[in-house]
Amino acid sequence: MYDVIIVGAGNAALCAALAARESAQKVLVLERAPEDESGGNSRYTAGLLRIVYNGAEDMQRLIADLSPEILAQTDFGTYTEAQFLDDMARLTEYRCDPDLTEVLVKQSLPTALWLRSKGIRFTAAWGRQAFKVEGRFKFWGGLTLEAVGGGPGLVEGLTQSARKQGIEIWYQARALSLIADDDGVHGVVVKHKGRTERIASKAVVLAAGGFQANTEWRTRYLGPGWELAKVRGTRFNTGDGIRMALDAGAAASGNWSGCHAVAWERNAPETGDLAVGDQFQKHSYPWGIYINAQGKRFVDEGADFRNYTYAKYGRVILQQPGQFAWQIFDGKVAHLLRDEYKIRQVTKRKANTLAELCSQLEDTDGKAALAEIETYNRAVRTDVPFNPNVKDGRGTAGLAVPKSNWANTIDTPPFEAYAVTCGITFSFGGLKINTDAQVISSDGEPIRGLYAAGELVGGIFWFNYPGGSGLTNGAVFGRIAGTNAGKSA
Ligand SMILES: Cc1cc2nc3c(=O)[nH]c(=O)nc-3n(C[C@H](O)[C@H](O)[C@H](O)COP(=O)(O)OP(=O)(O)OC[C@H]3O[C@@H](n4cnc5c(N)ncnc54)[C@H](O)[C@@H]3O)c2cc1C
Repeated sequence: MYDVIIVGAGNAALCAALAARESAQKVLVLERAPEDESGGNSRYTAGLLRIVYNGAEDMQRLIADLSPEILAQTDFGTYTEAQFLDDMARLTEYRCDPDLTEVLVKQSLPTALWLRSKGIRFTAAWGRQAFKVEGRFKFWGGLTLEAVGGGPGLVEGLTQSARKQGIEIWYQARALSLIADDDGVHGVVVKHKGRTERIASKAVVLAAGGFQANTEWRTRYLGPGWELAKVRGTRFNTGDGIRMALDAGAAASGNWSGCHAVAWERNAPETGDLAVGDQFQKHSYPWGIYINAQGKRFVDEGADFRNYTYAKYGRVILQQPGQFAWQIFDGKVAHLLRDEYKIRQVTKRKANTLAELCSQLEDTDGKAALAEIETYNRAVRTDVPFNPNVKDGRGTAGLAVPKSNWANTIDTPPFEAYAVTCGITFSFGGLKINTDAQVISSDGEPIRGLYAAGELVGGIFWFNYPGGSGLTNGAVFGRIAGTNAGKSA
């Protein structure tokens, strides 16, 4: 008999395991993947966490080696509770569950400090979230904290910490169903290395991810066309945790037709590749433009900072003819392109004239594309200065599809084009929980002995998502779920 069984071995699950172990003796983690593919989507991340911080002092509490020289060169700014709450409300179009969102925001910094106490090392996201202005790095967009070693470093750190605490981890252990009756949940039926077993426990935490890797559910819930999206991360998140809980009487909650989806290399494999991680993503579109197969622009590439648009633009790309688009850049912005543009596995075209570039865009009306770029160039408000660190208001005038910020003419060779399609990150719909991370039944009561955290919880993210909230969400509610499961055991 275990005190607590945790289903999954990603960030939410391992945080739950560590928190449960603070009060419970026997904690078991069930991971569907073999060890070399374990860690879920969390392992594919850059390890960026969106947290509240009130200046450099909070960063010093989290980051071990912030020297006075580094501090002098850095403007961390602040990211207050009010800003985080405001971002969540605005991006989810005011649908995010207010109680869960308040917990997410208020517990973000304490949970990051707790992670540090569990041996997780942090740094600041110098490479991704800061630009150097007048000799100082200036952070923007509220996304400053990064786990050392990215997602792999985070998962490795949590796994080592769990092992040190005597937490058992079974790999190739796929949870199939919950052992439940009128008194609540009493364990899990699991297929471990091909053998089905019933394992009893006093409490269960579900942290098995969303249903994005389940082609049939994607099409069923997100809608027609979603079977054509690529899965950015793990192939193991097929909605098992959600289905197990629904079968035991849990309520469904949240944005079941919504998901987090981004611009992703057009020829990437169908599911994630740990050797490439998140580098198939192509997030520098605010510095260029998108062109579809008909040679047309179709979205405001500069509507907001990348952090606040990237997670909803995957859907927009999926809706284009042939489910793909090109990102076009010129030589003036080449230095702003993120590292992910430099990998080998890109579908890239390069030319010294725009006409030549457009003629190389396969499956695309090159003539229409050239005309569209010329029309765009004429519409750019070159009287407004370009500044990548702020929403600079350098937009276009008179276009049916405007570009609101960072509009530069595309006129300086070499010209580059990158082909992207839609990469789905995770589904937004899932289980209903309360602020104690207890799973709520369809009758509105908590199901005794059942907790949930991470991607498989619904009601927090709708339509869109502020970058870096997924890991914070998993850590905050994983910790709460584990703490409460441990105490109830
Ligand atoms: C490429 C990429 C980059 C990302 N970058 C970031 C980022 O920088 N910052 C950020 O905050 N978020 C990022 N995200 C989102 C983030 O990964 C997720 O929001 C977060 O990791 C989800 O954590 P989780 O623990 O809920 O799920 P996961 O980490 O996916 O863990 C789910 C676990 O459940 C296991 N599992 C599934 N079914 C079963 C079963 N039946 N039995 C047992 N185990 C099962 C899986 O194998 C896996 O271990 C990114 C995602 C991707 C794909």
